Amino acid sequence: MKKILVITTGGTISMKASKSGIIPSLNGREILELIPQIKNIADLTLHEFSNIPSPMMTPQMMFELSKYISKVIDDYDGIVVTHGTDTVEETAYMLFITLQTLKPVILTAAMRSNEESGLDGPRNLLNAIRVASNKKSIDRGVVLAINDEIFSAREVYKSSTNLTNAFEAPHYGILGIIDADDVIYYRRSEFRYKYEVENLEYKVELIKLYSGVGRKFIDCSIAAGTKGIVIEAFGRGNVNPEIKAGILDAIKLGIPVIITSRVPTGRVLGIYAYEGGAKQLEEAGAIMAGDLNGNKARLKLMVLLGKKITVEQINNSFLVEKG
Ligand code: ASP
Repeated sequence: MKKILVITTGGTISMKASKSGIIPSLNGREILELIPQIKNIADLTLHEFSNIPSPMMTPQMMFELSKYISKVIDDYDGIVVTHGTDTVEETAYMLFITLQTLKPVILTAAMRSNEESGLDGPRNLLNAIRVASNKKSIDRGVVLAINDEIFSAREVYKSSTNLTNAFEAPHYGILGIIDADDVIYYRRSEFRYKYEVENLEYKVELIKLYSGVGRKFIDCSIAAGTKGIVIEAFGRGNVNPEIKAGILDAIKLGIPVIITSRVPTGRVLGIYAYEGGAKQLEEAGAIMAGDLNGNKARLKLMVLLGKKITVEQINNSFLVEKG
């Protein structure tokens, strides 16, 4: 039997309805008790990392989780992390870029709180343990196993606030499925990179653009001593002239500026040359993040800044995101 460590962090998978609404309530042991057959699948050890709704998860906690997994991984064949769906793609990606292990590290979550009919949590956890115990899961990068599907942490994002089918990886698709008899993989992700880092730089801001937006948030970030800025720009990575001026000022101060898109799919690319077009930003030294979303680009920049590398090296590290 494979030795699997189940790390619980909280989220709806460990929540129940109360008079006031849905709140955290189940501890790790109680979650495992919901699935009696789980004991026949793997030799399980439990570690309660936290019991929080995932909007309370921070990059500091994600990195602490990564360090914890690195410390204990030699004692296990695989790791399963239970998490809230709201930020699971971020924690999964933080583990994806900072863990060095080739062993399976699987995140899972639930959309329905315990006591709702058609519970997805116990099934997702059971499936995640099956994925973590399967030797085909070795060397695939950190993945999210949910709703009978397996996604790469780099590619997945939450696309529905309410459906149990809440995750997608458009353009890429799933890595595989978890069927009744077996775990089936269809492909490997092309995105495989990781960084060894001791400390992260947490002073990184993510700024989303909207019609008529001014440079106020860029200026606030600079004044607050930010070390890196990620812009969720329009379409192909374009901004308006005022934002362009703010970006150029940040770059002049040596602050790396990463351009992502607020559009859920597709790559940013410097093809528009009008005032604020992505081509101008790129020429001025802004870094294009391919189709990596803003949330993940922010975490990646924290890691890269933590390595104390140059802006040029940061730029090179983002080239891989172009595909
Ligand atoms: N708000 C919850 C959380 O992320 C949602 C969930 O887990 O599905 O913690």
